Amino acid sequence: MATRFVIIGGGPAGNTAASHAARLGAEVTVIERDVIGGAAHLWDCIPSKTMIATGGALALARRNEGMGLEQAEAGVDVEALTERIESIKMRLQRGTTNLLSSQGVTLVKGTARMLSPYDVEITTTDDAGAPKVYTVRADAVLLATGSRPRIPDWCHPDGERILTTRDCYPPTTFPESITVVGSGVTGVEFVHMFASFGAKVTLVVSRQQVLPSKDPEVAAVLEDDFLKRGVHLLKGARATSIEREVNEAGVEEVVVRCDDGRVVRSSHAVLAIGSVPNTDDLGLDAAGVELDRNGYVTIDRHCQSNVGHIYAAGDISGKLPLSSVASMQGRKVAEHVLGMQKMAHRHLDYDKAASAIFTEPEIADVGLAEADAFAVGRKIRVTKVPFSSTPKALINNDWRGFVKIISDPATGVVLGGSIVGRHAAELISVIALAVTANLKVSDIVESLLVHPALAEALAEAAE
Ligand SMILES: Cc1cc2nc3c(=O)[nH]c(=O)nc-3n(C[C@H](O)[C@H](O)[C@H](O)COP(=O)(O)OP(=O)(O)OC[C@H]3O[C@@H](n4cnc5c(N)ncnc54)[C@H](O)[C@@H]3O)c2cc1C
Repeated sequence: MATRFVIIGGGPAGNTAASHAARLGAEVTVIERDVIGGAAHLWDCIPSKTMIATGGALALARRNEGMGLEQAEAGVDVEALTERIESIKMRLQRGTTNLLSSQGVTLVKGTARMLSPYDVEITTTDDAGAPKVYTVRADAVLLATGSRPRIPDWCHPDGERILTTRDCYPPTTFPESITVVGSGVTGVEFVHMFASFGAKVTLVVSRQQVLPSKDPEVAAVLEDDFLKRGVHLLKGARATSIEREVNEAGVEEVVVRCDDGRVVRSSHAVLAIGSVPNTDDLGLDAAGVELDRNGYVTIDRHCQSNVGHIYAAGDISGKLPLSSVASMQGRKVAEHVLGMQKMAHRHLDYDKAASAIFTEPEIADVGLAEADAFAVGRKIRVTKVPFSSTPKALINNDWRGFVKIISDPATGVVLGGSIVGRHAAELISVIALAVTANLKVSDIVESLLVHPALAEALAEAAE
């Protein structure tokens, strides 16, 4: 009898696990309460990156001075942009749903919870729309229910002016001015997005550096760009309240108050202070699954919870909250459920995950960071090349940023790197491959690359 594999949640973790397990011969059921594709398609990666792409095109059109073009005033058609976002989402959702159906995966639209370690209760509707509750028995279960925006008790988002990141789509109107609370990856992407669409943006930064966990040199390039674009950075300030008020002129505004007494007024505010896992109401007590103190499922290197046949992947697992990581975890879980770990099987190394920040300029990094190596006294070789030294950057009329490669001085093995500049999210793949495959800097130097291309800076940095 085939392994009965039940997956709760159809986001990147759930749908990748489903597809891979079906290919490997499991009998797979996916229960999804919203849409296959998950939050990643509905609110997170896809809508945000689509809006950023349109904002980027707008910014590029405005930056065309020096390109030999006549200056044209570009504007945004909010309705057309909304249609564009919806059509991309639909296309991706349809593609993933069709793939799973064609592989024989049973897709159930409903809400699931564990009744026991082996029984999953599904609440759905029948063909006539009447409520239907039934239970399926599983040999293995994957919990892939994702996360949702964290909302502190001092803030009450209303979806109109006080927003979470999920309230920003569809973009019915663009705010005149907006205060972004939170200066991590999501916060800076939203700053970039709203600034591209012409809003007056203030960023509340709790530390002295935006992107506090990133290389200071990388963060400095972004801060510089924000300042040039008129973004107001409120450093060393923690928001303590966000409220709607009517000012003396009778105009409604959103007032963000900070712990040091500073106050910011704008037409809107958006919270970007992280997320919380969707582990409540999942029946995890009944299944005996342990959570950590922040509510994430504790997992081992195979993504197994303390209950051997119950796995967790994606944001619910408390590892890197990235769609790419969720998908890879899903893939590894499918292999483990089907007993493939006994074959040649490489474990997921979270330290080698590439990540990108879709700002202007783009930022991407992978592997060992310079500061982390210094912190543990590890000897490294750091080479840095500015894009301004490449012909392609001059041709592009955009020479901001640099490539930094970190390698082992004794062996030349590439340990990590960061890239700031145009197409950084694509270019980092070369360093990511080198880090994963233990390639040496000489392997990059000896690759015959395209000319003129921004990738030439990679070869130069590897020299
Ligand atoms: C604004 C924003 C932008 C982002 N951009 C990027 C990016 O560019 N690149 C990147 O790699 N990552 C990005 N991320 C992170 C990425 O979205 C998440 O890491 C990813 O969605 C996690 O995938 P997942 O499968 O764990 O969960 P999700 O995508 O959240 O899917 C979980 C699914 O489970 C379903 N579900 C929950 N509970 C139940 C239940 N009881 N029964 C049935 N179904 C249930 C939900 O409806 C949901 O569809 C972004 C995040 C945010 C907030």
